[in-house]
Amino acid sequence: MISIYDWNLEKLQTIVENLGFKKYNGEQILRWLYQSRVDSFDKMSNLSLPLRETLKSSFSIDLPKVVKKQVASDGTIKFLLELEDKRCVETVIMRYVYGNAVCVSSQVGCNMGCSFCASGLLKKVRDLQVHEMVGQILVAQQELDKTNERVSHVVVMGIGEPFDNYENVMNFIYIINEAKGLAIGARHISVSTSGIVPKIKALINEKLQINLAVSLHAPNDTIRDKIMKINHVYNMETLKEALIEYETKTNRRVTFEYLLLDGINDSSENAYELAAYLKDTCCYVNLIPYNAVSENIYKRSSEKNINNFYNILKKEKINVTIRREFGNDIDAACGQLRAKSEGKS
Ligand code: SAH
Ligand code: SF4
Repeated sequence: MISIYDWNLEKLQTIVENLGFKKYNGEQILRWLYQSRVDSFDKMSNLSLPLRETLKSSFSIDLPKVVKKQVASDGTIKFLLELEDKRCVETVIMRYVYGNAVCVSSQVGCNMGCSFCASGLLKKVRDLQVHEMVGQILVAQQELDKTNERVSHVVVMGIGEPFDNYENVMNFIYIINEAKGLAIGARHISVSTSGIVPKIKALINEKLQINLAVSLHAPNDTIRDKIMKINHVYNMETLKEALIEYETKTNRRVTFEYLLLDGINDSSENAYELAAYLKDTCCYVNLIPYNAVSENIYKRSSEKNINNFYNILKKEKINVTIRREFGNDIDAACGQLRAKSEGKS
């Protein structure tokens, strides 16, 4: 059955009109779903009985099922969610001083095959549908409703490559951004890609001021080729050209994510080379301490190397931060919980 969470306001209005009801019913439904967050059509008390009955027989209102919930000592909450076909994805609530960010998965598994990543280990099973991403936000919001808090930020950085599921991810973002619904501001929404260049260019033309993050993880093609297969398709020069076009046309800064892997990409020389590569952009760099995944050979860089790398970038006038870690005492790495539940980690 089609989910009611697949549609934005405009589409809901068209749907109710096509079913023989009034256009304004579309907005009423949107408010029930995203502001009142009811779990059944029967509770939509200002809709006529015939409309409620029609909705009940046409659409599902179910959310993904929470099969596991881990709460870390820093307040991070990680959910393992089961979808209609029993496949599982992860969703994480992270607490910042400025609000609550939810990390959303965009696919079941991932086909990009980055050698350091637990999600890549499991390969892509399928893309997530729009309502399955909206559902992750609503599950997180229901959790936060218990303490009268709200989801203020969304990062599409969970399992999967969002730009390998571009259309669904964009439709999902338009829905959570809807002013009469969850109203999560576009500037509070970030999407992270491993660097699918045509989709970076497509994002330039979206009517959405969201933030773009790019997983770079290497200072040159030799290293990036080894750890990220996508680099064989779009190398670092092609990627940079697209990002400069993106920054010029949208006036928005890109964030580069750089995972520090011991002995692979964390030397002083690597830091200077990265700074040289970034010189023509006006980006930010987010250095990420690696979470070890048991199947591979990679290790987290030492504190000393992380700080040295950071200091060189600073000295080279690059805007750089070291990513705060969340949920250290739970399965925090991207895809770890799901990998574990499938017996792979
Ligand atoms: N596929 C997208 C988004 C999901 S991955 C992308 O690659 O950008 C989100 C981020 O987590 C990426 O920067 C990814 O490289 C990083 N990541 C993957 N495995 C990790 C690990 N074991 N420890 C820390 N970060 C990891
Ligand atoms: Fe996929 Fe991102 Fe993991 Fe690479 S890092 S395998 S693109 S989820």
